[in-house]
Amino acid sequence: MSIRKSAIVIMGASGDLAHRKLIPAIVKLYEEGIIEKNCSVLGNGRSEFSDETFRDKIGLTAPYRNMFHYHQGMEGLYDKVLSMGKFDQIIVFMALPPRVYGSTAEQLHKQGFRDNVRLIIEKPFGTDLKTARELNIKLKQYYSEKQIYRIDHYLAKESIQNILVFRFANNIFYPVWNNGFIESIQISAFEELGVESRGDYFDSSGIIRDMIQNHLFQLLALLTMEAPVSLKPEEIRLQKMAILKALEIKECKIKQYEGYQKEPKIPSDSETETYAEMKLEINNFRWTGVPIYIRTGKAVGEKMTTIAITLKKVPRLLFNENDELEKNKILIQIQPDSSIIIDHSTKIPGTDRDITTTDMDFCYSSSYEGNVPEAYQKLLHDALKGDQTLFVSAEETELSWEKIEPFLDMGNPGLYRRGRIPQSDLDADWVDMSKYSSACH
Ligand code: NDP
Repeated sequence: MSIRKSAIVIMGASGDLAHRKLIPAIVKLYEEGIIEKNCSVLGNGRSEFSDETFRDKIGLTAPYRNMFHYHQGMEGLYDKVLSMGKFDQIIVFMALPPRVYGSTAEQLHKQGFRDNVRLIIEKPFGTDLKTARELNIKLKQYYSEKQIYRIDHYLAKESIQNILVFRFANNIFYPVWNNGFIESIQISAFEELGVESRGDYFDSSGIIRDMIQNHLFQLLALLTMEAPVSLKPEEIRLQKMAILKALEIKECKIKQYEGYQKEPKIPSDSETETYAEMKLEINNFRWTGVPIYIRTGKAVGEKMTTIAITLKKVPRLLFNENDELEKNKILIQIQPDSSIIIDHSTKIPGTDRDITTTDMDFCYSSSYEGNVPEAYQKLLHDALKGDQTLFVSAEETELSWEKIEPFLDMGNPGLYRRGRIPQSDLDADWVDMSKYSSACH
């Protein structure tokens, strides 16, 4: 689908996100022929740049250099867009400190950004239910829900989009995807790094706000929702909402890595959690009785996001009755590699009935050569097309905050050693991921 003639306005163009993610994504969209030279990009911020010094700062070379412009401040911003050409649509990406999202939307509207505008809003969307609601109310004063694109960059990862295809395009999984066959679901999302240079942001947030309220709840909703009647964004959102409504957090434990309080920009008495684990249940016909475990943490030694689905035992063991038969597992690796492993039992050749566990695996990068688009490339492309599927609705954000609210800022976290996955305080029998060599060699 060709993209209509568009202007992309980046608010906060001198910032880290613009530099590391957005501008490279725009360049890639251009290189792949998705946007053409008739699209223009306007950087904005309080800092002073001319078009030329801005292009130099972000390291642009020909042929796309001339597509990029800069305007300082809000005054005259809309007129500057008009002066760059006649556009069918304007995409405004708010790569700004979250506290100014609402007031910036107001100023944009005042300047003339109205009906042909789509606003992309970065995370975090609020810091609790109250602030998320206030922000939604403020944004809706000026823009309709159809114009608001709330980013959850996790949703744009290929392996996460593949969850819906895996579930709804393969009839082998559909019959077992329920409490009759599934024993438990575990989601682990680990970071190797600590807070690095973003200590001030992280300390006011914590891992529950940073990872669970948005990314992991969205991931869980896609994994467990009913099939939507179509792939229209509103139909998918409806099903995700039904899961969020039925979600109950039964337990939550938090920890902090040793040395966190000595990191740059972290108060020496900070009680912010850098690791959290939860036991959840989805109270509906499909999932009641299936424990769902989520754990996520920084500085735990490796970068890895995995979903492990353990199936119940077969009703009767016919084979080696003395052996403990491994339960079937489905492992969906989101990062660093995107892969799916299905763990199942097979007979050991040469024995009468001895059984072992083997894997059937699929690896994205070895199965598909070529380009897997980066999350921001995909999200920008979708916003340019007007596709809201991978963006989060106002209701979803508020419902997620409502569920997580009692577990925010719990304080008094336990400690764990940097570089190690903390010992779990839940009754979860965590699947040992190190047993599975990556499907991607
Ligand atoms: P930065 O602080 O690096 O940049 C934000 C830019 O916004 C600055 O360059 C600044 O430009 C402008 N700005 C700062 N304060 C104000 C203000 N009070 N009013 C108007 N403009 C201001 O932030 P990031 O680029 O890291 O993040 C931007 C947004 O993206 C944040 O909401 C963050 O949570 C989110 N995000 C960032 C990620 C990342 O990897 N960096 C990842 C995921 C989300 P100037 O001084 O020129 O006005």
